[in-house]
Amino acid sequence: MLEKVLIANRGEIALRVLRACRELGIKTVAVHSVADKNLMHVRLSDESVCIGPPSPTESYLNIPAIVSAMEVTDANAVHPGYGFLSENADFAESVENSGFIFIGPSAETIRLMGDKVSAIKAMREAGVPTVPGSNGPLDQNNERTLAMAKDIGYPLIIKAAAGGGGRGMRVVHNEAALLKAIYVTQTEASSFFGDGTVYLEKFLENPRHVEIQVIGDGKGNALYLGDRDCSLQRRHQKVIEEAPAPGIPEAVRAEVAATCIQACRNMRYRGAGTLEFLYENEQFYFIEMNTRVQVEHPVTEMVTGIDIVREQLKVAGGEELSIRQEDIKVQGHAFECRINAENPETFLPSPGKVDMFHAPGGPGVRVDSHLYSGYSVPPFYDSLVAKLISYGNTREQALTRMQIALDEMLIDGISSNIPLHRDLVRDSKFQKGGVNIHYLEQKLNL
Ligand code: ADP
Repeated sequence: MLEKVLIANRGEIALRVLRACRELGIKTVAVHSVADKNLMHVRLSDESVCIGPPSPTESYLNIPAIVSAMEVTDANAVHPGYGFLSENADFAESVENSGFIFIGPSAETIRLMGDKVSAIKAMREAGVPTVPGSNGPLDQNNERTLAMAKDIGYPLIIKAAAGGGGRGMRVVHNEAALLKAIYVTQTEASSFFGDGTVYLEKFLENPRHVEIQVIGDGKGNALYLGDRDCSLQRRHQKVIEEAPAPGIPEAVRAEVAATCIQACRNMRYRGAGTLEFLYENEQFYFIEMNTRVQVEHPVTEMVTGIDIVREQLKVAGGEELSIRQEDIKVQGHAFECRINAENPETFLPSPGKVDMFHAPGGPGVRVDSHLYSGYSVPPFYDSLVAKLISYGNTREQALTRMQIALDEMLIDGISSNIPLHRDLVRDSKFQKGGVNIHYLEQKLNL
């Protein structure tokens, strides 16, 4: 059982985890950097510990400091949130070796899914559809690589097995450019990720990004919580997400979901996870799995009525899943706008003091944010300061509610991308639904 959870994160997700713990009567410990003592969840937690200087490597990524904070405060579990150490297998292992509970999958699963080559292999074995590609790392045999590339067909994308965060990828349009591009990607991957392994995939030209939420109990049972469309992206960063993904035939959806469940059963998946796919011409192609809660999890919570963080906590505490697949119904529609402290035109970060914060409300409106009037957004971390979520019985109603909520929302003192969102939710192609992953960048360059 979880008695006291240490929250190894900051910002809105730390507050989200704190709220779920409180609801379950679990005590909380906040850890924070010197720059973050005024975070909302630090104020609300039962205990707090300063773990280091502002730099993430010395605080939120500092494994010994976090494990010591667990020892000092007698916390028996740690929730890693997203980003930072959430997909770090060494962290999960250190936590478990110290006798504590890591709220997430086993270190072994994190490792398996963290390497994209082994992840794709495991998925293929479970029947999950993947992108046509090399199905394994490239070796020194250039003849073989060139022949394989020809077979797959250009354009191709070279990807680092250890890549993440949109880094370690390179698109190649013809044979003449292939070997050099492989060499450059390998070199970059070695220096960024400490692993130069790369593989090839067919580059899909106009796909959508559709992902599937799962939750497993670690004993071989797994549930499917529907899908999300996160195609509206800039530089591989999601900007608006929605659930369910619009316009997907039920049979196609059901088929891919069944394979995802199978994959989770095979690896006795524990906790919340997301299988990310590219979707083109009514086909799903697996690209990677995230072994943690995602920024966009609230849209799924809105349409299923399931509290994903609560389920994470229950499963980590060794309890059964409190829901059965047949009870999960996707109803209505939800959107999430990621509100960043940044200039809406240049996208440059805009840290500083928030003079006034007004959160919108009303039926079907949810705000997940750590902001409050007088709070200063530090310059050291991700610029996400709020998630504005809307729900409606129909997609249209959810979108109308989002428009109204965005017009109501006020963040004074710093710049935010609220003006960009106001524009996007009135964009006719976005309103229609089903835009591809290039749509936003194309629109912004116009
Ligand atoms: P990361 O782990 O860095 O997020 P992903 O494998 O999830 O990398 O890919 C990130 C993004 O790169 C995708 O959302 C998509 O926009 C693009 N991408 C990745 N693979 C392909 C592909 N085979 N074809 C076209 N675009 C791709």
